[in-house]
Amino acid sequence: MEGLPRFYQDEESFAFIHQRLQLIPCPRCGLVSALILNGLVWGYCQNGSTRRKKGHRILCNCRRVRSPGCGGSFAVLLCESLPRLSIDTASLWKILGGVARGSSIGRSFDHAGIACSVRTQYRTLRRFRNQQANIRGQLQYYFGLPPPLSGADPIAQTIAHLQHAFPGSANPIAAFHLHAQTAFL
Ligand SMILES: [Zn+2]
Repeated sequence: MEGLPRFYQDEESFAFIHQRLQLIPCPRCGLVSALILNGLVWGYCQNGSTRRKKGHRILCNCRRVRSPGCGGSFAVLLCESLPRLSIDTASLWKILGGVARGSSIGRSFDHAGIACSVRTQYRTLRRFRNQQANIRGQLQYYFGLPPPLSGADPIAQTIAHLQHAFPGSANPIAAFHLHAQTAFL
């Protein structure tokens, strides 16, 4: 039986998920036909205070009289969204590329057109560094290893691995979301 996706490509593909929601078991309690749409997930735009849609919220309906659900709430996100971050996957890809080429973190954010505090910059990079082993593990599981890069730093290795997995993709992190159905960060 199919599970609830965590990422979707566009609203057309979400409409398809929505149509089948009653057939998908709740990720927490496993009950079928209890999932309902429960509004949108919003995030702030990367530069400024306007909000933008990041995805949809799904609820396991606990108000049903017969076989109530567990009340669990799940976010199903657009593949270019990053959970709990305001930057999107295309910007993160540019930032990682800058850092891998030897630019400072601040300069890499500037080049990607992202204005945020130094604290946020370092926190984002730290999250990436903490996740790298998981990301590489997933990539290796699905796509094998890329050709070895001697002497390259870990970020460059991960970039090469993503390019190996999704050749020609303009947005390999979004492609990772769609393929692995797990958050990149
Ligand atoms: Zn449930």
